[in-house]
Amino acid sequence: MTQRIGIFGGTFDPVHDGHIASAKMLVAKLSLDTLYFMPCQQHPFHKHPGASPAQRSQMLSLAVADEENLQVDDRELRRDGISYTVDSLQAIRSEFGDDAIIVFILGTDAFASLHQWDRWQSLLSFANVAVIERAGQIAAAQIVEPALKTLLAQSVATINAPHGELVQLALAPYVISSTELRSALASVYQVNNQIDKAQTNMINEFIPAAVVQYINAQQLYQPNQ
Ligand code: ATP
Repeated sequence: MTQRIGIFGGTFDPVHDGHIASAKMLVAKLSLDTLYFMPCQQHPFHKHPGASPAQRSQMLSLAVADEENLQVDDRELRRDGISYTVDSLQAIRSEFGDDAIIVFILGTDAFASLHQWDRWQSLLSFANVAVIERAGQIAAAQIVEPALKTLLAQSVATINAPHGELVQLALAPYVISSTELRSALASVYQVNNQIDKAQTNMINEFIPAAVVQYINAQQLYQPNQ
């Protein structure tokens, strides 16, 4: 049987239910055998993560511990410096072989700047691309970059090739981001250490319990960090 592999890249600082729920829906919709979260070492656009690479990877591992089809691929964390997706996908292709159906997954917000990624046109030589509509973010229809519009116009309904195809998917929306959660986590510690109930609810609603425990134990995302 041909293997069907999903690769979901991002910072995951921290991982949240928007990532996990989307990943589970993607496993079903794309008939994936395994979806790998692939945290990046250093964002190519110099975004500075709050947790260390090892901590982000550990949080992902805790979040997927009970999920049969979800795993973590930390190859970019084992590489020094900037991580380029195209290099990772090339390595993944050679590991899984020519016949495997590999799908690189990203939200519309990330897709909107794909044309600025290093050797972005080569991504499709190694993998397919799935663009997922992300609630509260730019819609695929709003993307104006001509090269990306051309790519979107060639979307297929179902991915069947090992690489080279693009599919657009609408998943049940999860209106949450790591940015909002980092700010909620920071505010919980503020105001004379008084617990802010609304922010605490948001954290518990959108971050897996084992990850919340880890964040507390490691004292991550405190305002002075
Ligand atoms: P930040 O707020 O720090 O930018 P984020 O919540 O966007 O973080 P990332 O790690 O940057 O999370 O996202 C990794 C991938 O997951 C991206 O392709 C992004 O579009 C997608 N993604 C993030 N949050 C959601 C969500 N709520 N629903 C669907 N996709 C999401």
